[in-house]
Amino acid sequence: MVEIATALASIKAIRELGGWLLTKYKDAETERRVHEITAKLGDVQDKLHELREENIAVLEEKRQLTERLRAAEERNARRSHYRLVRAAGGAQLPEFDGHDGSLRHYICPACMETRGEFHPLQDLQNRVGTHACPACKAHYRVDRPDPEPSSVEPDF
Ligand SMILES: [Zn+2]
Repeated sequence: MVEIATALASIKAIRELGGWLLTKYKDAETERRVHEITAKLGDVQDKLHELREENIAVLEEKRQLTERLRAAEERNARRSHYRLVRAAGGAQLPEFDGHDGSLRHYICPACMETRGEFHPLQDLQNRVGTHACPACKAHYRVDRPDPEPSSVEPDF
């Protein structure tokens, strides 16, 4: 980028020199030559402007790719702390290993696989042991269902 700006500044200086020559030497040959040089410099200048635009686009693409790579690395590092297990209720879920002392939990496998998002499942506090993803609202059988009331032995 700096090199292109320097080249553009040099072209401007050469054009100014051409203008100065035309004030010093007013013959047709000098005028023709200066105009020829000026036209060629114009072509070079246009090409440099194109290159500068391309350079800006490439730098922006690089910035976006670097950002995506960093996000993917962070996701992979985070994902390494989850392993697929079968919960007591039967659902197969990624379970957090608790390595940092945080509460052990399950996350939504659908959100993790499709969007790389980590949403801890929330206990719906129902008899069948269902937990739900707060993002996609999917339900998973996490806890063992409570026994049916009829299965409780009557107390005589
Ligand atoms: Zn989800």
